Amino acid sequence: MSTASMGLHNRKTPHIRCRRCGSMSYNKRKHHCSHCGYGISSKLRAYSWVSKKVNGTRKY
Ligand SMILES: [Zn+2]
Repeated sequence: MSTASMGLHNRKTPHIRCRRCGSMSYNKRKHHCSHCGYGISSKLRAYSWVSKKVNGTRKY
């Protein structure tokens, strides 16, 4: 086992738990969530490519 990239694995993530979506995607320093867009906009971050279309109709 090489230690080529394993040295990066003990770095602390800049993300903490988001208070809106609950995922560990809230950036502590930038003060925004990369998952739901909390801190960027009041609307939820949603893209069409997130959910796959089933039977031609989008789920969300
Ligand atoms: Zn969030």
